[in-house]
Amino acid sequence: PTAPSVLTMNGSVNSHFASGEDQNFEHGVQIIDEDKHFNGYMPQYLQAEGITKAGFNYHLISVFGSQSTGKSTLLNYLFGTEFGVMSEQERRQTTKGIWMSKNKKATVKDAQGKGMAENILVMDVEGTDGRERGEDQDFERKSALFALATSEVLIVNIWEHQVGLYQGANMGLLKTVFEVDLQLFLKNSKNVTKSLLFFVIRDHLGHTPLANLKNTLMQDLERIWSSLSKPPGLEKSKIGDYFDFAFVALPHKILQPEKFEQEVARLGTRFREGYVDPRKDGLVDEADNPIFLPQYHRRIPADGFPMYAEGVWEQIDSNKDLDLPTQQELLAQFRCDEISKEVLVPFDETITPLEERQSNAVSAGSPIVIAELGKTMASARQTVLKSFEEEASRYHKGVFKRKQTELESKIDGRLKALFQGQLTAAHKSGINDFSEAVTSAVKAGQKKGGNYDFYKIVQSEKQKSIKRFESEAQSSLISGTPWSDYKSQLNLYQKEIDEVSGRLRKEEMRRLATRSERWVRSRLGESIGTEFNKLGSGRAGSGAPEEGEKPTEKDIWDRIWSAFTETVAHAETRFTDRARSFDASPDEVEVGLWRLRRKSWAALRDKIDEEMMEGNLLLKLRENFEDKFRYDEEGVPRIWRPTDDIEGLYTKARESTLELIPLLSRFRLARTSAPPPLDAWIGTPPETVTAADEEDLPPIGGVDEDEGKSLEEEMTVLTDSKRQDLSTRFKKTADGVYVEAKRSAIGGVTQ
Ligand code: GDP
Ligand code: MG
Repeated sequence: PTAPSVLTMNGSVNSHFASGEDQNFEHGVQIIDEDKHFNGYMPQYLQAEGITKAGFNYHLISVFGSQSTGKSTLLNYLFGTEFGVMSEQERRQTTKGIWMSKNKKATVKDAQGKGMAENILVMDVEGTDGRERGEDQDFERKSALFALATSEVLIVNIWEHQVGLYQGANMGLLKTVFEVDLQLFLKNSKNVTKSLLFFVIRDHLGHTPLANLKNTLMQDLERIWSSLSKPPGLEKSKIGDYFDFAFVALPHKILQPEKFEQEVARLGTRFREGYVDPRKDGLVDEADNPIFLPQYHRRIPADGFPMYAEGVWEQIDSNKDLDLPTQQELLAQFRCDEISKEVLVPFDETITPLEERQSNAVSAGSPIVIAELGKTMASARQTVLKSFEEEASRYHKGVFKRKQTELESKIDGRLKALFQGQLTAAHKSGINDFSEAVTSAVKAGQKKGGNYDFYKIVQSEKQKSIKRFESEAQSSLISGTPWSDYKSQLNLYQKEIDEVSGRLRKEEMRRLATRSERWVRSRLGESIGTEFNKLGSGRAGSGAPEEGEKPTEKDIWDRIWSAFTETVAHAETRFTDRARSFDASPDEVEVGLWRLRRKSWAALRDKIDEEMMEGNLLLKLRENFEDKFRYDEEGVPRIWRPTDDIEGLYTKARESTLELIPLLSRFRLARTSAPPPLDAWIGTPPETVTAADEEDLPPIGGVDEDEGKSLEEEMTVLTDSKRQDLSTRFKKTADGVYVEAKRSAIGGVTQ
């Protein structure tokens, strides 16, 4: 036997299902035509009759019997169908192949709760005249096998006068049915369910009670059964192992038309669902017992039945061993895939636009947080899984479970990606918002005069930001899915918020440093300017500095140094307080202070250079000289008289002022007659200083040793040549003053 492969996954089986132009289903639908071809109109028919969605709530029965024994007539009376019947005049075969029709009779229950079951599908099978015409029994065997593989109940239609005629065509047919059933059992021992053989004895005259007819028939059946050569292993099997039996007799339709119709109507009520346990010999008889017992149902969902029937027929027609479990699995695979596709349509309608929005936003570089994502995803997920379960769970359990898992992991893969994208978006926009909020709060604080609490701003924005991230993540969750969890992402988020906070704090430190430097620079501008201005007053004295005395010229650098260090100390205190207030680490503070000292020194050097610009300095020297020369010890301006020692005074004053030039040309403390301890004052760079921290710092001689500039050089304010030049120019200026004094002395006499 070759492997059954009728139901393939490429959809070819289904191909001619769709090709039907509108069919006229007046007489039901022809399933198999006279050329043994399977017709593709069954799905349309079931759709038209509203059975497709019935799941297992439908029943299949077939009718067997010799040609022209009134089978179609019986079905039409029983079920209100319109199968073709032979007219009384032309006696020729009408039913070709296998037709199917839905029960048209009402399914309402009567007072005793009896009434026809819903969705009964009846198959009218071509008669067996083939044998009589000497044709082969091919179609008979195939249709019997087909009916056995699909139908719950097989009606065997028989004339009363044929009962006991063992040689009759009916017995030949039954033999065939038993043979193919054995064949089915052999191949599918675990999966073939029993069928009910329901004998309808026609034209019952009433002389012979039904019980006798039944006995006769049962004996015949046993006899046929025992005459069959059974396959190995089944030699001892009994007919009751394979079939249940029921019997009914109907009056003559022509002779007793009213009784006939009455009995047919009564028979109809037996086509209902029930839970009768057949007797040991398989009899489901007696009175009005229901005949649709659950154990007969083939458990093929209605929407899969056409495909199953076609697969079964193709296997039968190509003389392959009929492998029902494989047919059922193939059917399940095909249908589950179809159902998957169907249930994914509404899912896609909801989810695809979200996926597109997300990926567009990502490629545009501005990730978006989709509102209520969790709710939307959860409901789409629930709908798709529920619909799938509803439709597909009726199929082969193993296949269904597998396909369910496939579907679940398919949609979960997509939902998970959406979820992750959402968290990424929430993360990115949250961090952005946080940093912007802090920055703008700082700006607002600066506008209001700079008295803002950076630490408080960061703390409150941090809290808001984390809360928001959590709520966004929370609303993106799909409950009941272990993968939708945001704990680790929340951790990452908190970490990055801390990193960004650190960066913002650094920026704030820089701002603070800039403010401090500016403050130092402006304070130095004043205090150092004042010190230099004092030079213009030569009476400040030129003696050695003494405790408690007026400031002298000699200790100008001492005063500048201490003014400088006091100013910076003050700035350092303020800097430290402020930096601590926003939680800067001791290391960060240390680096900030170190930078502040260096920057302050640069500011001082700038200020000194400014004061030492040639023009400025010359003016100061001239003022200094004039003060010494033109005023007496009491500060009274001298009126030169020719008797005055103008030359002596001039020389003294000039020499005194000239002494300033070497004094000013080097930053030296009078106290120690050494440069100020700049290197010690600045201190060694803190261990945590980074290249970025040092980038904008100009080198300082004597402090940054590898710069190759000594402290001596750093402290040199005027070069030798500048000094020389300055002396020469100052002398000229002094000379001019002297000449003027001389002149005024003489002029004073002439006046
Ligand atoms: P089928 O070939 O078995 O489907 O038989 P038909 O339903 O086409 O009927 C064949 C002939 O038998 C028709 O002429 C019917 O009128 C006739 N017929 C139908 N039912 C009965 C019946 O209960 N008793 C008798 N005697 N004739 C019947
Ligand atoms: Mg017929």
